[in-house]
Amino acid sequence: MPHPPRLSPSSHPWNGLPGPRPDPVAALQRIGSFLHPTPLEEVPDWPGGISGPVRVKPEWRQVTGSFKVRGAASFLTSLSKAERRRGVVACSSGNHGLAVAHVAARMGTPATIVLPEGVDPVKVEGIRKAGARLVALETGYDDAEAHALEMARDEGAVFVSPFDDPAVIEGQGTLALEILEECPEVARVVLPLSGGGLAGGVGLALRDLAPGVEVVAVSAARARVMLDSLEAGRPMERPEEPTLAGALSGGIGRDNRWTFPLVARVVDRHAVVEEVEIARAMRRLHALGMRVEGGGAVGMAALWSGRLPPVGGPTVVILSGGNVSPRLLEELQGPPAGSG
Ligand SMILES: *Cc1c(COP(=O)(O)O)cnc(C)c1O
Repeated sequence: MPHPPRLSPSSHPWNGLPGPRPDPVAALQRIGSFLHPTPLEEVPDWPGGISGPVRVKPEWRQVTGSFKVRGAASFLTSLSKAERRRGVVACSSGNHGLAVAHVAARMGTPATIVLPEGVDPVKVEGIRKAGARLVALETGYDDAEAHALEMARDEGAVFVSPFDDPAVIEGQGTLALEILEECPEVARVVLPLSGGGLAGGVGLALRDLAPGVEVVAVSAARARVMLDSLEAGRPMERPEEPTLAGALSGGIGRDNRWTFPLVARVVDRHAVVEEVEIARAMRRLHALGMRVEGGGAVGMAALWSGRLPPVGGPTVVILSGGNVSPRLLEELQGPPAGSG
């Protein structure tokens, strides 16, 4: 077993963590009006590919183009009026910034988004259009986050973590409720892993509501800080590498409080995919009419690369986002989607 097995399956995965247990049912009531419905879709079998029924949760169709709007809306709707008036600050390589900017604008809350270097221009444009103040830095994610935290402190604003926060985790967990409602017979949920808000929230909700469902977290080989941290038993830091799965880049935070222990407890299986596998999955999804970014395609990449053993029931794969520049998609169209 190359990857760390899930810890302490017998006790509740939130035990010992600070703050009240996330309640995705309550979160869904708070944030429902911010969401588009994203009903599950069937993915036809690819020759030589997957066996068994596979459905996708098309969060690339979600408001702001990713599931991140769930966590952002959950966080902002749990702030007090006074906190909202002082405004929010987020640091993001894209989707989290887009989501916070969008939700803040709808709620009339001032938002500042700090951008590290190398952010997809499509995402920057979206954040600007949403009306947020932009602070672009020439640094990697960790330094940019430190800057954002400082700004929040100086301005009396609230910092919105992209993943390491109970309200954010609770918001991402609403995905599990929708999946269970539409596909109660689901045997396995496959999702991308970066900071672990998505895996932690969905995994926690599934432990509570459908403990038999296998939770599979997929990392990009060039953005596997969480997996390295789990293997080391403590939060690690890694230099950032360029990857098609840019949404999965960035650290898990030196002072990670929630998602590191949570992911260790709720994820049953890990898989790692290489760049060529991500590119191929993006091409195939595109051929099926699904515009999915690299970070959103790693789950299908793992399945289509035969990295997951068969399971005794339907698999649901979360296609977490679709904010990809048309130029990149075009560049990927090189060889036909069935080969390579
Ligand atoms: C943020 C993001 C992820 C990873 O979510 P974490 O909660 O950081 O693990 C996956 N896919 C997309 C498209 C994202 O924006």
